[in-house]
Amino acid sequence: MSRRNENTGFRCLNCDARVVALTNGGYRNHCPFCLRSRHVDIRPGDRAADCGGLMDPVGWRHKTGKDWQIEFECRDCGTRSVNRVARGMTQPDDLLLLTHL
Ligand SMILES: [Zn+2]
Ligand SMILES: [Zn+2]
Repeated sequence: MSRRNENTGFRCLNCDARVVALTNGGYRNHCPFCLRSRHVDIRPGDRAADCGGLMDPVGWRHKTGKDWQIEFECRDCGTRSVNRVARGMTQPDDLLLLTHL
């Protein structure tokens, strides 16, 4: 994998869905269908983590004036990170899944 492929989409490790890149200029690191992410970033988009583990959604929050955020926890090393919810575009996140967390 080249470091240049950061916003060109990916295949989900968990459900094997083909995930397309965001069309609004944002950065997506999680699957919209099962909401699993991959532990490849220290900061969103930097690809600086060596872990590569699957990250499960463990919670979500909504801050006034900001969009929803999903919190993820890595299965391999337990690192937690948050990512903005993707919606109003191609392949929006399945927000119903969040209500089951
Ligand atoms: Zn998936
Ligand atoms: Zn990890």
